[in-house]
Amino acid sequence: MNKTVYIALGSNVGCKRDNMKQAVELIAALPGTQVIKCSSLYETAPWGKTDQEEFLNQVIAVETTLQPGELLQELQSIEIKMGRQRQEKWGPRLIDLDILLFGNEVIDDPQLTIPHPYLRERLFVLVPLAEIGAELQFPDDGATVREVLSRVLVREGTRGIARI
Ligand code: ADP
Ligand code: MG
Repeated sequence: MNKTVYIALGSNVGCKRDNMKQAVELIAALPGTQVIKCSSLYETAPWGKTDQEEFLNQVIAVETTLQPGELLQELQSIEIKMGRQRQEKWGPRLIDLDILLFGNEVIDDPQLTIPHPYLRERLFVLVPLAEIGAELQFPDDGATVREVLSRVLVREGTRGIARI
């Protein structure tokens, strides 16, 4: 059965725009998978480890017949195929592909946690996600993306994130 899945893309190495475009094309070519919406690109200040290049971030919606674990494996193969090296936590990366939401599933496994563990606190994913799915509800507590985003905005403002 088709599920709607939201995937976050991030890049801060090389030609970031080309990396994002190539990743979307490779995701669109996955078995049983169609890309249905793409947010704008956002230029964002690095998070966690701040002494590095700015990031480009984007969120896309796909419909897929893949299971969550299968999709994670496919996304990790795309990261590797595109040349991402596994390095330091939150360090520079050519492409990072994270599953934010997978239909209404709640998965509590360190290998695959859904909703994504940092989704509720990271503006660089909440802002592009809200652009394409403001009324989506979190499957665990029923909050909408719009509500979660406005709480974070009250706390942090929109510093460090620019739509391009
Ligand atoms: P980051 O946390 O910065 O995205 P990585 O991309 O290196 O770091 O991911 C680290 C691990 O996070 C992966 O090996 C993966 O198994 C795990 N992980 C847990 N939940 C998710 C998710 N929802 N989407 C993608 N990876 C996840
Ligand atoms: Mg990741």
